Amino acid sequence: MQVQRINRRWGEVNLPKIGRVRFRWTKDLPGVTRGGPQGRITGARLVKNAFGWSIVFRTETLLPALRQAHPGPAVGIDRGVTVALALSDGTTREHQPWLSRGEREHLRRLEKKSARQRATRAQGRPQGRPQGRPQGRPVSHRLARTYAQIGRVRAIAKRRALDWQHQTTTELADTFSLIVVEDLKIPGMVRSAKGTIEAPGRNVAQKAGLNRSISGEAWGRGVTLMEYKSAGRGGKVVKVPAAGTSQTCHRCGHRDPAARQGIRFACTDPGCGWAGHADINAAINIEHAAGTAVSGRGDLTVGRSAKRQPPHAA
Ligand SMILES: [Zn+2]
Repeated sequence: MQVQRINRRWGEVNLPKIGRVRFRWTKDLPGVTRGGPQGRITGARLVKNAFGWSIVFRTETLLPALRQAHPGPAVGIDRGVTVALALSDGTTREHQPWLSRGEREHLRRLEKKSARQRATRAQGRPQGRPQGRPQGRPVSHRLARTYAQIGRVRAIAKRRALDWQHQTTTELADTFSLIVVEDLKIPGMVRSAKGTIEAPGRNVAQKAGLNRSISGEAWGRGVTLMEYKSAGRGGKVVKVPAAGTSQTCHRCGHRDPAARQGIRFACTDPGCGWAGHADINAAINIEHAAGTAVSGRGDLTVGRSAKRQPPHAA
């Protein structure tokens, strides 16, 4: 793959079947940028999104040899209900809504507009025909334009969420040597809620809400980002079973679902009585559960259970 830098802002690449493609140079590329990462470019593809075309390079890079272990402390992280992330050191990582009030209002108006345009188009169809986006049929130009506008606003939100996620995971990987997170098994959770018509899932609405928020925060992607960022800094990410972490008092170990009331955790063991931020309590439990890790990345050797093969101390 012939990648050339034309000037400070532009590069050019020869793509099979397409020819020469110019692109805005935004990142150091291995094997091209002098003093950039060591490695090589193994592929490229063009991607169209709501903002236009992008080029994505697939690269192989060598991680620089690490001379010393990460000096930072360990931390447990809970994907909070009331905050985006709660840490076992008592801090939180939060963010503003991805869209401003004005942008949300704009999106709402566009969605109403698209519904109106769909309805106009549906007139003249046989009665009882389901309305909605006509499958496999061309949509009107006006409707297509509205869809494109909706797509742009959603893409703005997505880009801001990804940006926050990158900044936050970089900061966490810089700060902590061992990051302990819940093993949420997200694809399973998303699938399990719906059930079938004969056997509908239980608490569908609640789970759907939970799934939406999981997808919204894109927790799984955040964990993946932390895994490679930690590995590059001599740290590691460990996943632990999530069961009970939000219902158990981190101080005395007493487990009671009633102890958690929204944002607040109040231990129901009369001998303990600890009370505080529920998500922080969960984060501390998660950090303590590192001994029962189900998977890890980095130089940690982790077995299926703590009894058989305890992880080496951080
Ligand atoms: Zn307690």
